[in-house]
Amino acid sequence: MFSKILIANRGEIAVRIIRACKEMGISTVAVFSEADREALHVSLADESYCIGPAPVGESYLNMAAIISAAICSGAQAIHPGYGLLSENARFAALCEECNITFIGPKSETIAKTGDKDEARKTMRAAGVPVIPGCDAVADVEEAKAQAEKIGFPLLIKARAGGGGRGIRLVKEASELEAAYQNASREALSAFGDGGVYMEKYLYPAKHIEMQILCDNFGNVVCLGERECSIQRKNQKLIEECPSSAIDQKTREKMIEVATKAAKAVNYRNAGTVEFLFDRDGNFYFMEMNTRLQVEHTVTEMVTGYDLVKWQIRIAAGQKLEFSQKNVHLNGHAIECRINAENPELNFRPSCGRVTLLHVPGGPWVRFDTALYQDYFVPPYYDSMIGKLIVFAKTREEAIRKIQAALCELVIEGVDHNSELHMELLNDPEFKSGDYYTDFMAKRSR
Ligand code: ADP
Ligand code: ADP
Ligand code: MG
Repeated sequence: MFSKILIANRGEIAVRIIRACKEMGISTVAVFSEADREALHVSLADESYCIGPAPVGESYLNMAAIISAAICSGAQAIHPGYGLLSENARFAALCEECNITFIGPKSETIAKTGDKDEARKTMRAAGVPVIPGCDAVADVEEAKAQAEKIGFPLLIKARAGGGGRGIRLVKEASELEAAYQNASREALSAFGDGGVYMEKYLYPAKHIEMQILCDNFGNVVCLGERECSIQRKNQKLIEECPSSAIDQKTREKMIEVATKAAKAVNYRNAGTVEFLFDRDGNFYFMEMNTRLQVEHTVTEMVTGYDLVKWQIRIAAGQKLEFSQKNVHLNGHAIECRINAENPELNFRPSCGRVTLLHVPGGPWVRFDTALYQDYFVPPYYDSMIGKLIVFAKTREEAIRKIQAALCELVIEGVDHNSELHMELLNDPEFKSGDYYTDFMAKRSR
């Protein structure tokens, strides 16, 4: 086992990983930007290094500075969290070259699955159903020709995409050219790669994803599904485990396909296979996320397995101690992402000092955050400032529990979306469980 791990991230996920390390008796090294000197992850870690100015490009994405901090501190491994460098194949390769264990899959696996066009081809060849569509297109003329075959509506998607960026809906042929240019431009500036491919737009559909864990000895275990259909602009807002749409038979089928997908890319460590699931129970591969997910918490609550600890154990060369038959989804968990933004002002991001903080408590209530009273929420980073997670025996109880917890949550000084969450949880469509990815868009109409 490692004796020291560097956490190459910030915010709630850095705190989450430090906690797991502490419980495992592993020393922790934090890295931080000049804007994050007062951040919670810095004070919780055993040691910390400033890696540059506030903008992520100069700090949290500064590979040389992070690797230097790992070498100086004698950290044997780096946990990248989610976002930032977590799906950066170059960074994983750099760790490998420097003899530092990257807590995640091999760099070549990240490269292979991070290219969503290539991932589609790999999955298709392995017999995993993919969304009907086409391979990457070279220019707008080719896009037009392929679009005729796919039919409208369709989605243009960045092959290097992530975080909902570089995606455009095209309802009819006349919109194609502008959408193509927009998607490609956005992809180029976000990912340095303007390449796009297209898929049939499936609706109504649910976003259902499968959590997998793979060790270095060929053992693959799938920890069931997460329902992530409540999204705003392709970004998840509320997640649940299990999904109301999935019975045990369907679950077993999806576990089988997700396991096949993991094996097709020789997967290692924790990962997620994302599917679109239609009303008839058909499901199609969308993409694979080669990292820990924001919403891993709901899986932890329902399966009882600590995913971050398993990521660390697997990276240290340990065997999975349990197999598929040990995995049971017990009860129901829901997560609400608390974002520093104002839903009334078109979700304008908010920053500022937290003048009052009260965090909900009680049995089976979990609030993952890096906030503390008097903390200044900086304007430079992702707007997610906390995740409220509850666990109960049934879905109905879980909804009531998370509503009660939301009532207790007080964050003053920055705008946030807890009232919006309250409304969403009260929505009859949400309560029915029969909701799809268009849930938020339908509400705002
Ligand atoms: P999840 O399924 O874990 O929610 P997301 O796609 O929402 O995955 O990404 C997780 C986090 O990483 C989010 O905070 C998101 O904003 C951020 N993120 C994802 N991809 C990128 C990217 N390419 N560049 C910057 N941030 C990203
Ligand atoms: P990202 O890498 O940005 O997370 P995804 O491919 O996972 O991109 O898509 C993000 C979201 O967009 C999905 O969760 C889903 O809601 C929606 N989406 C993606 N592809 C399709 C599709 N073919 N039809 C309908 N909705 C889609
Ligand atoms: Mg996705």
